[in-house]
Amino acid sequence: MTSFVHEPLPVRVVFGPGSAVGLQAELDRLDLRRPVLISTPGQAAAARSLAAAFAGHLPTAVMHVPAAVAGDAAGAVRDLAADGLVAYGGGSATGLAEAVARDTGLPIVAVPTTYAGSEMTPIWGVTDGGVKRTGRDPRVLPRTVLYDPDLTAALPAQVAAASGLNALAHAVEALYAPDRSPVVTLLAEAAIGALGRALPRLVTAPDAASRTEALYGAWLCGTCLGSTTMGLHHKLCHVLGGTFGLPHAGVHAVILPYALAYNATHAPGADAAVARALGQEGGQEGGHHDGAAALHHLARAVGAPRSLADLGLRAEDLDEAATLAGRDAYPNPRPITAAGLRELLRQAYEGRPPGRP
Ligand code: NAD
Repeated sequence: MTSFVHEPLPVRVVFGPGSAVGLQAELDRLDLRRPVLISTPGQAAAARSLAAAFAGHLPTAVMHVPAAVAGDAAGAVRDLAADGLVAYGGGSATGLAEAVARDTGLPIVAVPTTYAGSEMTPIWGVTDGGVKRTGRDPRVLPRTVLYDPDLTAALPAQVAAASGLNALAHAVEALYAPDRSPVVTLLAEAAIGALGRALPRLVTAPDAASRTEALYGAWLCGTCLGSTTMGLHHKLCHVLGGTFGLPHAGVHAVILPYALAYNATHAPGADAAVARALGQEGGQEGGHHDGAAALHHLARAVGAPRSLADLGLRAEDLDEAATLAGRDAYPNPRPITAAGLRELLRQAYEGRPPGRP
């Protein structure tokens, strides 16, 4: 790559075990006197244990940010005369804070407890009438993110694995994004390496070191997502989750190896980078790298769902899914063909090792 644009996003990142203890100091730094805390209901008690003074707490975040929930939260934040938002939790809590920030212009301090990575992006998403709209707005980018691996200790192993594979997809697609830069490529490869090492350990023998490495990888993945435009993998997941109601994290885990296999011939550098990051130093036989196979192996190793059939898709839905995923233009290194998409989805439906559709 000889020409590129790189625009780092202005987020202050405080990383390390115990860093959430410094939340009040970070709020003071931003001169926030009446921050409102936002979390999911399940994380409400953990969120309240943060050592900081809040003007109120909205434990109302749910998956995919329903418009009504976002509207109610923005109203409550105005009633509380808040001057800032603290998002504690995964992508659902961050997503609700981002929707409120888009509406009110209030600054966000994010304290992530999963690997979703949305805290490093200016991307908002709101679901209305069953349709999720997304966009970019600099107002939703958090001012400060406190990454504290200790807060992920309660994350169940399967939630951690699913969230980590979801994060990984951002780094993998950043490797062939049209708006990537050499810096993003470095971050992406480091992110895949960190998560590739940490996720199997989180499932078998979680410890502080694996939690720290996973959260470090998640930060890098979020940075990749915030800096680039996603391609085929995200389009497929959007269709399979949105139209067919398949679970968000499971779909990401199943589709990623097949999306990379589809693109590998047109993005061999990305495929090789994934293989390297996941420990295939010399490539496979004959020096051939196979990042897609390495991703498939990793998903198996962390006990992720194995196929679209396992997730509940019906065989008769494959053609419609392929048609929907081929609609609308989006950036992707390999041209999208109906036959290629059908074969990709067929392989993912059966859960067989990814070939080159
Ligand atoms: P989530 O925030 O819904 O969390 C999953 C579940 O785990 C929730 O019930 C939550 O209460 C619980 N949880 C969170 N942290 C925990 C912890 N440390 N211990 C125990 N339980 C915990 O899910 P997610 O995977 O973090 O985020 C998914 C959402 O984020 C989706 O809506 C997705 O579209 C969105 N997302 C947005 C972006 C973006 O850039 N805007 C990026 C990635 C994901």
